[in-house]
Amino acid sequence: MTGSTVDVVILGGGSGGYAAALRAAELGLQVVLVERDKLGGTCLHRGCIPTKALLHAAEVVDTVKESASFGIQATFEGIDLPAVNGYRDKVVEKLYKGLQGLIKSRKIEVVAGEGRLTAPDTVTVDGREIKAKNVVLATGSRPKSLPGLELDGKRVISSDDALKLDHVPASVVILGAGAIGCEFASVWRSFGAEVTLVEALPHLVPLEEESSSKLLERAFRKRGIAFELGARFQGVTASDTGVIVTLESGKTIEAEQLLVAVGRGPVSEGLGYEEAGVKLDRGYVVVDEYCRTGVPGIYAVGDLIPTLQLAHVGFAEGILVAEQIAGLDPAPVDYDGVPRVTYSEPEVASVGLTGVIAKERGYDVVSVSYDLAGNGKSQILQTAGAVTLIAQKDGPVLGVHMVGSRVGELIAEAQLITNWEALPAEVAQLIHPHPTMSEALGEAHLALAGKPLHSHS
Ligand code: NAD
Repeated sequence: MTGSTVDVVILGGGSGGYAAALRAAELGLQVVLVERDKLGGTCLHRGCIPTKALLHAAEVVDTVKESASFGIQATFEGIDLPAVNGYRDKVVEKLYKGLQGLIKSRKIEVVAGEGRLTAPDTVTVDGREIKAKNVVLATGSRPKSLPGLELDGKRVISSDDALKLDHVPASVVILGAGAIGCEFASVWRSFGAEVTLVEALPHLVPLEEESSSKLLERAFRKRGIAFELGARFQGVTASDTGVIVTLESGKTIEAEQLLVAVGRGPVSEGLGYEEAGVKLDRGYVVVDEYCRTGVPGIYAVGDLIPTLQLAHVGFAEGILVAEQIAGLDPAPVDYDGVPRVTYSEPEVASVGLTGVIAKERGYDVVSVSYDLAGNGKSQILQTAGAVTLIAQKDGPVLGVHMVGSRVGELIAEAQLITNWEALPAEVAQLIHPHPTMSEALGEAHLALAGKPLHSHS
């Protein structure tokens, strides 16, 4: 293939890049995918999949420890973290093999190595020039830190380092209570660690509906997870035995480790982007709603662009780009319609607008909350939480916000409701199977439609 011009070259084989490759190949385009590490990227190897495997192992621990409350006698004997990691790695490995097979079956050429954009139509890998009519930049993101806060990989660690630990830390401070901070807090607490979250904003998962944050705070408090909210980090001193974290308030917290989870930044440095005329903003590639950079024929997708850093958003952006390149006329991604899930125990799931954003956009907002206390399956599982709906007065449902075990699985129905702009009365008409957690979603809509069933109000 060297020497000829291919239809598409994609730089980066993570969720965004490989989705673009699969869809482009499916549409009959000749595709080269350049990857310096492993196909699957952050999501498969250092993010979504391995962390969710750990969260599942944590659920197993909780189930054993709480078995007596279900009348079952079981003894918790301990955690063999290398074995837990083995289970996790087996899941990753199986999916990795599957992905490699899929890429191969679509006749996508994978070039292993560090690629660089050396001209607007050329990616160079180890001296080999790959010329293409279209280039998709998909080099992803990496964990960020704060100015002056150095990640040493031992005492002060990133989520990448956290996945490599071969033991459960006795105590840990987690800086940042977004998805990464709350998910690791949840895993480590289940595994027996003393955990303190430090969050600069006033709530855990601060971008969520405030009532969801408060429910998570209540649940975490009950689980013995400590948190400092509205707390700014001042500094850390690390020694052979642990860390002392100082907050701006003067408070100090000692722990074995500090996990820095203050966000992920784009990987765009030194890759030739700006030299080729691609505009960057704080390292992110600037794109329009079709993921087009200002340079004709160059697109960018995934964590590299300043949209929601979620694997499923990367997939959608990759597909959007591939379809444009193939001459189709796809609709841009509707970012409000993207479901978001934090897979802690309990889970926090949402789609659509929060009440605050709906009001900012000028909607006359009504809302209703359905407490999981009234839901049979939630009582069987012994989980607490709620389904909160945000709707336009006399209009469609604008947002769905849920907290509770397993509510992540309910967000798919919620996204149909918000994305199809359903009216509360239309959803209230749909019968939900009893006894499932999905009934809580139905009950919330019954209440919003003015005919509550199992609601006290
Ligand atoms: P995030 O941006 O979601 O959260 C970082 C948190 O750190 C914020 O709440 C922020 O206020 C806080 N923070 C920043 N500076 C601070 C300071 N100096 N002191 C105290 N707190 C401070 O980032 P993340 O949790 O690191 O995750 C990175 C990205 O990956 C996000 O876009 C996230 O959505 C995504 N992700 C998603 C999932 C999921 O969907 N389940 C899981 C993991 C990661």
